[in-house]
Amino acid sequence: MPIINTNILIIGAGPAGTSAALFLAQHGVSSTIVDKAVFPRDKICGDALSGKVVEVLNKLNVDYVEELTSHKQFLGSWGVTFVAPNGQSLRIPFKSSKTEIKKAPGFIAKRIDFDNWLFEKAKANPLIETLEGCEIRKFERITDGITAYSTNGTQITAKLIIACDGAYSTFAKDIAGLQTEPAHNCFGLRAYYKNVSGLDAQNFIELHFIKDILPGYFWIFPLPDGYANVGIGMRADKMSAQKINLKKSFERLVSEHPSIRQRFENARLQGDVKLFGLPLGSKKRKISGNNYLLCGDAAQLIDPFTGEGIGNAMMSGMYAAHQAVLCLAQSNFSENFNQQYNTALYNRLWSELLLSYRMQQLVNYPSLFNFVVHKANANALLRETISCMFEDLDMRARLKNPLFYLKLLFS
Ligand SMILES: Cc1cc2nc3c(=O)[nH]c(=O)nc-3n(C[C@H](O)[C@H](O)[C@H](O)COP(=O)(O)OP(=O)(O)OC[C@H]3O[C@@H](n4cnc5c(N)ncnc54)[C@H](O)[C@@H]3O)c2cc1C
Repeated sequence: MPIINTNILIIGAGPAGTSAALFLAQHGVSSTIVDKAVFPRDKICGDALSGKVVEVLNKLNVDYVEELTSHKQFLGSWGVTFVAPNGQSLRIPFKSSKTEIKKAPGFIAKRIDFDNWLFEKAKANPLIETLEGCEIRKFERITDGITAYSTNGTQITAKLIIACDGAYSTFAKDIAGLQTEPAHNCFGLRAYYKNVSGLDAQNFIELHFIKDILPGYFWIFPLPDGYANVGIGMRADKMSAQKINLKKSFERLVSEHPSIRQRFENARLQGDVKLFGLPLGSKKRKISGNNYLLCGDAAQLIDPFTGEGIGNAMMSGMYAAHQAVLCLAQSNFSENFNQQYNTALYNRLWSELLLSYRMQQLVNYPSLFNFVVHKANANALLRETISCMFEDLDMRARLKNPLFYLKLLFS
């Protein structure tokens, strides 16, 4: 039975865990990272990598984004198309016309490719010990740390555990005591198709807000090699209240919805349709304690409006690495000391998460959504304003101000 002693154990080699390990290595600190899967492995996701992912990658290594740009498994994306409940669509570039851009602001890549690409960087780093096929199921507190036990008999003792084991995190439930709350949790279903017609020439991602599934949406995201990632997401409490079967709703939309159906007439489903949870960051949680920090989905950080979680997972990995460096330097792994991780991370993310939560609530009013899309299509300045919202949070804050709608009404 292998017994490992390490200062820092990272559980989960998704975007959160791998980022944490790579940022630690940047500080010259070694770590052990384990994952139950053997890479490359699939992850149920929409596969959209936002500007925040690009921002964190740039902090890791300025050459990484250049590498992605020339990688054939990564598709550059230049914007988003919103389709309002009445079917009217609004095309918004990710950056305003004021900003000069040469590279795509976002990417779309199957997670099997993105996560493997990032994990390869960790595997190549001499400061990072990686263990695959190692599922951690049990924990035991010891005097100056935590011992983690894997199902294959490996025993790892660490002074600090950075738990990055995703939406169904055993660590977050058993040690941190985090609950999954239906009003702050979403379910998403993902399918891969080939040959979906009408995909955007600039690889804009498409979000279709359909009345029956509000405040969730149906999405179509283009991928390399003629693939598209197609899915549907909805808040868990709304699903139970309306007795929605997500798979049936998905099949109905693809085969019957007036404007969506025709896009799938010649499309072929590739593999299975799969469902997974999205723990939303619409509520602050206790994301650290004695000898541990939680990151990514284990810390419930997904954007409650867009469903974007990869960027926040990587960002939390970066903040966790910074905190771990302080813990080691001061030999302090206590709950009190780790509280500064919660503060720093929420200082960075909370205003954004809260705003997205307000927007999620606004989307509950289909007529308001229809109205904004209608006005924006007729008004170049408003389209520009919405475009700027992807770059500037203050601009986004306008959307929750009633005066904004009043001005629109008379514009
Ligand atoms: C349907 C759907 C669509 C989505 N679409 C998007 C999107 O388009 N863009 C976006 O930004 N976000 C999207 N998200 C959210 C995004 O997938 C997550 O936020 C992101 O994967 C979180 O990264 P993570 O590293 O925290 O967790 P994960 O990516 O889930 O990684 C966790 C890792 O931990 C490992 N692990 C789990 N349990 C154990 C264990 N007991 N022992 C050892 N290892 C373990 C897993 O094998 C996995 O590799 C979507 C989510 C869903 C469900």
